Amino acid sequence: MKVEYNYLPKEFSNVKAIFQDWEKLIKSTDFTLGKFVHLFEEKFKNYLNVKYCISTNNGTDALILCLKSLGIGKGDEVITVANTFYATVGAIVAVGATPVLVDCDERYQIDFEKIEDAITKKTKAILPVHWGGASPEMSKILKISKDNNLYLVEDACMGIGATIEGKPAGTFGIVNAFSMHPLKSLNVMGDGGMVVTNDDELANWMIKYRNHGMVDRDHIDFWGVNMRLQPLQAIVASHGLDKLNNVIDLRSNNANLLDDGLNNIKDFITTPKRINKHQETYALYMILAKKRDLLKIYLEKNGIEAKIHYPIPLNKQKAAKDNCIFDDKKLNNVNEQAKSLLTLPVHQFINNEQINYMIDHISNFYKSGY
Ligand SMILES: *Cc1c(COP(=O)(O)O)cnc(C)c1O
Repeated sequence: MKVEYNYLPKEFSNVKAIFQDWEKLIKSTDFTLGKFVHLFEEKFKNYLNVKYCISTNNGTDALILCLKSLGIGKGDEVITVANTFYATVGAIVAVGATPVLVDCDERYQIDFEKIEDAITKKTKAILPVHWGGASPEMSKILKISKDNNLYLVEDACMGIGATIEGKPAGTFGIVNAFSMHPLKSLNVMGDGGMVVTNDDELANWMIKYRNHGMVDRDHIDFWGVNMRLQPLQAIVASHGLDKLNNVIDLRSNNANLLDDGLNNIKDFITTPKRINKHQETYALYMILAKKRDLLKIYLEKNGIEAKIHYPIPLNKQKAAKDNCIFDDKKLNNVNEQAKSLLTLPVHQFINNEQINYMIDHISNFYKSGY
């Protein structure tokens, strides 16, 4: 049996509806922003129940746009977590600010109890990440940001469709970023991203900055850039959004089955604690596994494609020697977890038979003494 990690061939096996809309787009030649991008922005805005959605090239640009809109730049510090994708920290550096890395908790999310310790006079914002599609303790982090008069910006790149007590990920901060990279919960055929906010002033600035600072064809207010989402991708995103809740249901179901099965071998596998009031997107289904590297090879031999997110945390990267503030000794969880993290396929096209096959093989690996 094969349990493939990549779901894209199945997801895009029938693209008739997308092609029909692409034909409309091509006939309209509305290729820069325009109607189809606008329609998607409206749809996403309504999905999250927020005032503004500003689509972008990709999630990294969305993060940069968020930070820029708040005037964050040189001399400012932004607190984030050490186990995230490179882009979170890359975006902070791109605007000229300094990333401050804190440890994660047992759910691989930024440890809210370690945030206050990292605040200095230079801190401007807290940038928590919905890592893997699970959510950190957002209400606690929101309170810390308010108490310390800091901006809260969410990296919800993996969290499209995640909720905390019904409130969507990416609606806690003042301005928040999402990605539609092919491996996120809502994905396009390439790159795409969004920023959402309820703040009129920030939104107006971002709408202009994304498009060269233009007010209209002949006037610019200030120097901007081109961060526009492609209309071709806006159409893919719009179709994807129609299916998103169903995709998340299927993934949740798979994740629950995996959790249940793997909790029978607790001596070897640790599944993260799940919080009842949190709906995760399961962009990544991550566990901690003893003898991780041997297990991964064993699984691969048996047709199960597992991944590691990531074997080298940001604080251990060469790039972190410049520009980043952190104390490696305080990043205990991040450093320890990196040695045993394993990501299993959990996507919407995996059936129960494949789930059981994964659980059986993981159990057999430990029973047989590797
Ligand atoms: C994917 C991702 C990004 C970057 O998004 P892109 O669309 O790939 O630029 C940023 N942060 C996190 C946590 C991500 O998972």
